[in-house]
Amino acid sequence: MAMIAFEAVTKTYGIPGSRRPTLDAVDVQIGPGEFVLLTGPSGSGKTTMLRLILALERPDSGTVFVGGRDVHRLTSGSMPFLRRNFGVVYQDLGLVPEVSVRENVRWAVEVQELKRRVVRARTQVALELLQLAEVAELPVGSLSSDIQQRVAIARALAGEPAVVLADEPTSALDGHYAHLVLDLLARLASRGTTVVLASRSPLVTGYARAGRVLQLRDGTLRPTARTVIHEFNSVRDFGPIAGASDATGASE
Ligand code: ADP
Ligand code: MG
Repeated sequence: MAMIAFEAVTKTYGIPGSRRPTLDAVDVQIGPGEFVLLTGPSGSGKTTMLRLILALERPDSGTVFVGGRDVHRLTSGSMPFLRRNFGVVYQDLGLVPEVSVRENVRWAVEVQELKRRVVRARTQVALELLQLAEVAELPVGSLSSDIQQRVAIARALAGEPAVVLADEPTSALDGHYAHLVLDLLARLASRGTTVVLASRSPLVTGYARAGRVLQLRDGTLRPTARTVIHEFNSVRDFGPIAGASDATGASE
């Protein structure tokens, strides 16, 4: 079963019919453990697709399925269950500036209702994966935008979600950290996490290890022949990511 599916999804901002739809009868199926790059020019609807998956937007017509369920027919009671399966990197990050890096990440793990020891351990692993250990006790608001972006990524991954949705997650990062993040996401996908990465950065869209590249243009989603811009060998070892493959089963 597809982890995420769009069936004839049309979305127009404003009055439907009054202007061209942002998404025009989009069909796509994304399987568990797939690594999908969603590309397309600014304003092509990448963020809109992610918001539809999270049920933050409602389609004009068509259906968005997550784990086989129509996300717009979930009761409000099962919405937290859906959200718990997602790790999301929002384009505007959405961090709490006054509290520490560690607290920002830890709060995201706490919603999983795990033992305190496990919460602490997962938080620490995520901080180390994103090379944030040295700044862990500093307030997020005191840090530069590239570090804040890594905190948002650590927060999205720390709960070991079944699905990671990342909206322009490398926009503030230099090449070194952008590659670190891409390798990390590829590795999570190889262990069963479904990853959808929306970006118009050439560095990201040329990433050699992505499973599938989908391009949005004029409201339509099409598979694209990939131009490999940055081919690189990654032998970095991120260490074990406990439970990453188990998490897939949690959303069935
Ligand atoms: P992308 O992420 O690819 O840059 P978006 O999904 O953010 O694209 O936006 C797609 C189109 O929808 C753009 O034309 C944008 O102006 C429009 N749009 C997005 N969100 C809103 C909104 N809340 N209200 C009105 N128009 C919107
Ligand atoms: Mg966007």
